[in-house]
This record gives sequence, structure tokens and C-alpha cells, in this order.
Amino acid sequence: MKVQKFGGTSVGTPQRMKEVARLVQKSPGNLVVLSAMSGTTNALLEIADYFAKGNRQSASALIGKLHSTYMAHIEQLYSTLEAQEQTRTFLNNIFDRLLAYAKGDFTPQMEKEIVSYGEIMSTNMLANYFNEQGVNTVLLNALDFMRIDEDKEPDVNYLREHITPLIEANSQAEYFITQGFICLNHLGEIDNLQRGGSDYTASLIGAAIKADLIEIWTDIDGMHNNDPRYVENTKPVHQLHFEEAAELAYFGAKILHPTCVLPAKAAGIPVKLLNTMQPDAEGTLINNQFQHNQIKAVAAKDDITAIKIVSSRMLLQTGFLRKVFEIFETYHTPIDMVTTSEVGISMTIDCTDYLANITDDLKQYGIVEVDREMCIICVVGDLRSQNTGFESTITNALRNIPIRMISYGGSNHNISFLIHQDDKQAALQALSAELF
Ligand code: ADP
Ligand code: ASP
Ligand code: MG
Repeated sequence: MKVQKFGGTSVGTPQRMKEVARLVQKSPGNLVVLSAMSGTTNALLEIADYFAKGNRQSASALIGKLHSTYMAHIEQLYSTLEAQEQTRTFLNNIFDRLLAYAKGDFTPQMEKEIVSYGEIMSTNMLANYFNEQGVNTVLLNALDFMRIDEDKEPDVNYLREHITPLIEANSQAEYFITQGFICLNHLGEIDNLQRGGSDYTASLIGAAIKADLIEIWTDIDGMHNNDPRYVENTKPVHQLHFEEAAELAYFGAKILHPTCVLPAKAAGIPVKLLNTMQPDAEGTLINNQFQHNQIKAVAAKDDITAIKIVSSRMLLQTGFLRKVFEIFETYHTPIDMVTTSEVGISMTIDCTDYLANITDDLKQYGIVEVDREMCIICVVGDLRSQNTGFESTITNALRNIPIRMISYGGSNHNISFLIHQDDKQAALQALSAELF
């Protein structure tokens, strides 16, 4: 069995939904994971924001606008009056529920409920389309098997134990469809796997059902060797090791949700990144193979904060690093990059919720400096130390960019640079010019 995940743009219009249906029908027996139609999650979050701010009028106006858009989709998607009526009734019910949030107080939990309707609508629409076409499709409710625990980590045992009987009970089904992104939390309330989390759903399900392959279908022909939003003439990379893909996703390659690689890697299931608009393009295969002597790709992650602590007390002392890292642990703040010298440490963080507490605590040990609006540039490929030459080519490409930190040697396939966000595009372009 294959898991096929289609992102927001892939199901962004009725026409695109029909194309997805055609693609899916090329390989019967698969489990299809869908995102919300593109723009819907953002619209639902905006509606929730108006409710949270007590502006019910604007929330209702936005609900009305989204409702009209969906009503127009119905006529374009279905040819029979029966399918149109069935879908209209279903969607009208959802929009009535959205309007009902205007009554009473609005709580943060309600935002999670509101945002879940995006995937609930897209999956129902596609399932109804399949059934109208006479294709035997079973719609699985992700809330029956996707659950996160108190630490917001997915409960993989629960997933396996609950999805397997649902699939076995429907052995006649030609296809299964389910929602990406949405789940229940440990209290049984509606929650989600964070923005872009449908990729994660697909990978978790793939691992749970021991799929042969996890396909992530999107609007580009695979992972490109640089960020196409900032650099022209980028090219698809045809193969990546799981670790390389994870680094690129974590350091900004938006095509893949950062957490998505882990479940597939642990279960040894290959992942393919494919383009819905160009289904015959080769795309990117992510597996356990490591290709030697190649630099694969570059990615960049914004909104990074650098913290430097300088202390002569660090000199020849044991336990200094531990004390510093413990402060970050206390405030549940992960560190991305670290560089050290005899008298100081520089670290980068992504989440600044506890920055003031962290810097206050660090001041016990030395002089603390904070740089905001920084960016990590990450180059991924064969960067084993015995493979000489690439590091110098990479640093040479960045010769005109002020560099705040360099991290190399933490793994065999990554070298990272911390620069100011304003220099990001120039750095990405310079790397493409020198490396590809
Ligand atoms: P989906 O809605 O299908 O999940 P996303 O918008 O999340 O799609 O991801 C696809 C987008 O990722 C592309 O349109 C592209 O702009 C962006 N992207 C950023 N970096 C890369 C990269 N290195 N390779 C390919 N796409 C990238
Ligand atoms: N619909 C969600 C989002 O826009 C999840 C996803 O698309 O992966 O973030
Ligand atoms: Mg995505």
C-alpha cells in the first residue's frame, strides 16, 4: 500500500481536485491524505482571530465570503444534482457551525476546532467526487486514530492500533481518504500537528501501516537545490538521504515539513516528492542511500536569534557548558547551532518566548550579547572530513557576506553559517553560482 499526500495547492480548485482524482486512480489501493484547499487554513485562522478579538461582524463577513467560494466549487466539481446536494448539505452544516461561534465567549480551543474544518471539507469533497464517479472510496476520520500526547508528540501506538482495524474492515475499498494535519490531544480535544503538518500525518500513517512508499505531491517537481523563492534557475535534486532531507526541511526548505522525515526514516519507508502539475517529472526520492562526492542543496531559515556568552570563568573549567545548556533546558528552548572558543559560546535559538529569562540567567556566568533577525544558511551533501575541498568552496562563495557563526563537523552532511537576514538572498545566490 502507498500513502499519497496532496498539499493545499494540489487541491486548491475543483479542477485541481479532479486532476488529483485522476492521479490517484493510476494506482488503486492507496491511502490518500489531503490538506485543506489552499488559502482555507489562513482564512479560518483569520476568522478565529476576529472572534478572539470580539469582532463578530468581521468574523461573520469572512465566513460568508468563504461560504460563497465553497458553494461555487460545488457546481464546478460535481456533475450530478445528487452529489451537489449531498456536498452542499454537508458544507452548509459546517458554515452554520462556524457562525455559531459568535454566540458566547471565545476560547483558544475554539481556534483549533475552526481550523480543523479546512481538511474536513476538502476530504469530504474529494470522497464525494470519487463516489459520484462510481469509485468505491472510504473516508477515514483522522480524529479516530491521530492523537498527540501531553508533550504534543504523536501517539504512534494508538495510531497503529486504531487505523489497522479500520483498513481491514473495509477491504472492499478501492481507496482510503483521510485528513492531514488534524488530530485529538490527550484530553480528547481537537488539535493539530502545526502548520504544514499534513506531511507529518502522511509519514506517521505510512510508518503505522508499513506502507511501501510515501508520496508527497505538491506544486513543484521535488526538492530543488536552492530555495526557488529567492534564487532563479534552481534544479530538482533526484535523490536525498533521509538525514539530508531532514536537515533541508528543518533549515527552511518549505516543500517538506521538518518532522515528516523521522517516522519514514525510522520505519525505513522511502519518501517521494512529486509535482501534481507535472506528474511525469522524476521528483525527489528520499531513502537510506548516501551519494558520495556531491553537494545536494542549500536552504535558509529566518528569524533566528544568536546569543553569545563570554566569560573568563570558562577557561580551563569543567561544567561550564552544562550550566549554560541547563538554562535553555529549563525554559524548554531548543538550541540549533553552537560554536565555542576557550572563553565563550555562541548559540542560536528559533523560539524567543523565554529569551528574557534565558539572558537574565546567563548573566550570572558572563557577558551576554543578543543578535536578532539572523538567518541560518545550511549546505547539505557529502561533507565528510576526508572529502576535502567542498568546505573551502562553500566559504569562498560567501567571501563577501559577513558571517557571525560557522558550524561544521556535527554531522557528515552539513555545514551551516549564521548571517544577518538582510544578506540571505545574496548568500543563497552566491552559493548557487559557485556550487551548481
Ligand atoms: P503544499 O501546500 O503542497 O504542502 P508547500 O507550499 O508547503 O506545498 O511547499 C511547496 C513550496 O515549497 C514550493 O512551492 C516552493 O516555493 C517551496 N520551497 C522552498 N524551498 C524549496 C526547495 N528547496 N525545493 C522545492 N520547493 C521549495
Ligand atoms: N492545512 C494546514 C496548513 O495550511 C496543513 C497543511 O497544509 O499541511 O498549514
Ligand atoms: Mg506543505
